[in-house]
Amino acid sequence: MSEHPEVTASKINRTKAIEIIPVKFKQQEEKLLNKVEKSKKNPTAKLIDLYEFMGGLSVSFNHLTPCKKGCSYCCEIRVDVSELELSLIKLKAKKAYNNAKKDLLIGEPCPFLHNGSCSIYEVRPFVCRRHQVFTPTNSLCINNEELGQELLSFSEVDASYLHILNESNCGKSKDIREYFHTGTFKNKKTLCVIHE
Ligand code: SF4
Repeated sequence: MSEHPEVTASKINRTKAIEIIPVKFKQQEEKLLNKVEKSKKNPTAKLIDLYEFMGGLSVSFNHLTPCKKGCSYCCEIRVDVSELELSLIKLKAKKAYNNAKKDLLIGEPCPFLHNGSCSIYEVRPFVCRRHQVFTPTNSLCINNEELGQELLSFSEVDASYLHILNESNCGKSKDIREYFHTGTFKNKKTLCVIHE
C-alpha cells in the first residue's frame, strides 16, 4: 500500500524541523539530563523549567506543524499524566481544575478542553507539549489516523522528564480523565505534596 501523501510530507517537515533548531538549543538539549540531575531545585521547579525549555525548542519549527489553537483532535485520545503534573495544574490553574468535567472516557474530550481550547495551556502536561505532528494539514488527525505518524522526540527531554517523575515520588501516571471520575475525585483531595 502506498504511503499517504500527508505522511510523506510529514517526514520531510520533521527532518526540516530538526535541521532548523538553533545550535544553542541543540547543545543545551544534549546536556539537559545532566543539568536536571545536578540541579538543586525541587521536582516541580524542574518540571516548570523543562516545560519552558520545550517551548523554546519548538519556536523554530512551529510553522511546520498544523498544531494550532482551535485544533484539539489529540485531546480526545489517551492523555497520560502523572500525579506531579496534575498537582501542578491544581496549584496553578485552580479554577480550571475545580471546573474539570467529570466521568469522561477515552475518546471523549479531555476534562480541560473548553470550547476547543485548552483551559490550562500554561501548565498543560508533558504529553500535550510533546504531541506535535508535521503533516501539512490536520486532516489525518480529524480522521483519527495521526497515530501512525512519527512524532518529534528529544532523547534528553524525555529522559529528563522521567528523571523528574522518579525524583518526585509522584510519577504514577494514568489517563487524565481518570483523575476526575467521581469516585476518585471524592476520595482524593490531595494528589501529592509539591513545592513551588
Ligand atoms: S490538557 Fe489541554 S492540551 Fe492536553 S489534552 Fe487536555 S485540553 Fe488538550
